[in-house]
Amino acid sequence: MHEWALAEAIVKLIENSAVENRTNRVDYVEITLGELQQVDEEILLYAFNELLTILKNEKNIEVVKYQLVKERAEFKCNRCSFIWSPDVSAMPANELEMIHFIPETVHSFISCPRCGSHDFEIIRGRDLSVRLTHGTKV
Ligand SMILES: [Zn+2]
Repeated sequence: MHEWALAEAIVKLIENSAVENRTNRVDYVEITLGELQQVDEEILLYAFNELLTILKNEKNIEVVKYQLVKERAEFKCNRCSFIWSPDVSAMPANELEMIHFIPETVHSFISCPRCGSHDFEIIRGRDLSVRLTHGTKV
């Protein structure tokens, strides 16, 4: 869907960070991807890899190692405070898509496994974050 744009944004971040730190070497990049993000990991990694090659060839900035970390979704019930991780892989694609565009719709598909309430919060799984490690500077 938007994997290329996402990969581009991450690579731009790496470039800016390298320039800011006056280095052309980034030791480690960790991309944390919430499982409620509708992102195709394979396409993202492919795009990321391609763009890293361009970054190296054109700007001489090298990324030594990178990793994509999946963050499990976690919901917290507002009625009984129960915290649980839904089985996102078992959810139909159209529901996930709706949740992606209108996160509030999650309440119509999912209810608390303990008390059945539809009143809960998404506490994890919606984020995308990038963490970089340079030589000595962290
Ligand atoms: Zn509950």
